[in-house]
Amino acid sequence: MAFDYDLFVIGGGSGGVRAARVAASGGAKVALAEEDRYGGTCVIRGCVPKKLMVFASEFAGTPDQARAYGWDLSLGAFDWTAFSGQLNTELDRLEEVYRNLLKNSGVDSFDARARLTDAHTVELSTGKSFTAKHILVATGGHPVRPDMPNAHLGMVSDDIFKLKKLPKSVLIVGGGYIACEFAGILNGLGVNVTQYYRGAQILRGFDDEARGLIAESMQEKGIDLHLGTNILEMAPASADHSASHAGTGSDAAMGAPVGTTQDLLPGAEDTGEPVWVKATNGSENVFDAVFFATGRDPNTADMGLEEVGVKIGRRGEIVVDEYSQSSVPSIYAIGDVTNRVALTPVAIREGMAFVETVFNGNPTPVDHELIPTAIFTQPEMGTVGMSEEEAREQEPVEIYCTSFRPMKSAFANQPDRVLFKLVVSKATRKVLGCHMVAPGAGEMIQLAGIAIKMGATKEDFDRTVAVHPTMSEEIVTMREPIRTA
Ligand code: FAD
Repeated sequence: MAFDYDLFVIGGGSGGVRAARVAASGGAKVALAEEDRYGGTCVIRGCVPKKLMVFASEFAGTPDQARAYGWDLSLGAFDWTAFSGQLNTELDRLEEVYRNLLKNSGVDSFDARARLTDAHTVELSTGKSFTAKHILVATGGHPVRPDMPNAHLGMVSDDIFKLKKLPKSVLIVGGGYIACEFAGILNGLGVNVTQYYRGAQILRGFDDEARGLIAESMQEKGIDLHLGTNILEMAPASADHSASHAGTGSDAAMGAPVGTTQDLLPGAEDTGEPVWVKATNGSENVFDAVFFATGRDPNTADMGLEEVGVKIGRRGEIVVDEYSQSSVPSIYAIGDVTNRVALTPVAIREGMAFVETVFNGNPTPVDHELIPTAIFTQPEMGTVGMSEEEAREQEPVEIYCTSFRPMKSAFANQPDRVLFKLVVSKATRKVLGCHMVAPGAGEMIQLAGIAIKMGATKEDFDRTVAVHPTMSEEIVTMREPIRTA
């Protein structure tokens, strides 16, 4: 049977664009449909704008430190309008880069929503239909609000990048990396930040000591973190709900313009007032904005997937095998829509492994082991491999760990501490996990990740000469385990 295309990709995000481009460069006839903006979550409403906001927020700490080093520096007001204008220009530029990458690789791209009508046919919202030998679903995910009355009054991560003004006070609900990163960002930008997390500690799944240090540091920097706490009720603030206003009178909002939720979310329903919140700890407060960072679900709804026989899992994800093939042989899926490891470089890897498997005749399973990753909290965390808690469930381990005030903060008499930790197998001496909480930890873990992926032992670390004077030299100079488990 002759098909219109060898490959039709649905979704122009990190995974979809890479797979389309690599397949087309290898000679395949490829089309891609994107219903929103090219670049997807990472470029438009995830990693990239978030990291730029991290950079913006980190300047808040600069003058204090600079003064200790002899500079006469003071902090002026942060201008959200100027920053977000510049941010949008940058995102427009990046979107254009993505469009051109596809065009220059010979991919036909369609600005349309796509759904499946059979195992080889894609129907677009423009009314056109195309057949393809292979279909790759790379539709990503979306943020979800909790299922409770008035949850629509809260924003989600997609909304943050579209704010017209910064709120004076915000309640962040959640304890995952997105919640904690935005707590640091908004706090740095001068917003009065309260964070509720229903669990006993933030950043579930990461190493306990690292999470503990990050939580303490966040509190030291002024984030009002409440663990074991959740929203019980929320409503538009009104005369009936005259609890204390978390933003009123705060001098933490360094020049940030006061906003109401109406200012914040143009077009959003029923957000004319700040939000009254009753918490599970009994407290009642009014916040200018509530931000739910309470998870993401895969984008599989209304795409005809189940109708054509694609198996969908409990979280709404497309169920795939190690080659990213779904239960329908011509349909593959990569990235967040498969709910495996929701990270940009993983979606890209899965896209490349798909092309290698399907178009280059070289079946390539995706390697999800020992993925280094960074959490852009303030302080930042870099991590690879198992946490101490995970590793000791598996085998006897030795723990090497140090936490101290680095030279730069000690000189400025600032409290910031860093942490370097290795989890080592007693039997094989291999480093099973490496966790760092420090400025630049995301950059450092990329390199430590190579050694650990290669199977480095503790003795390999020890044989490596320290780089002096750095914080990270501690990673090769920790001689005695602090405990065994
Ligand atoms: P996406 O990039 O989400 O792309 C999917 C695309 O498909 C979207 O453009 C969507 O519009 C389109 N689409 C959906 N349905 C259809 C349809 N039916 N028809 C046509 N088009 C459709 N990862 C990191 O590695 N590091 C980070 O620091 C990081 N920070 C993040 C911060 C935030 C706030 C968020 C939300 C995510 C972050 N991530 C980070 C995760 C990362 O963004 C995702 O893992 C990555 O973008 C997934 O890529 P993808 O190709 O699977 O999907």
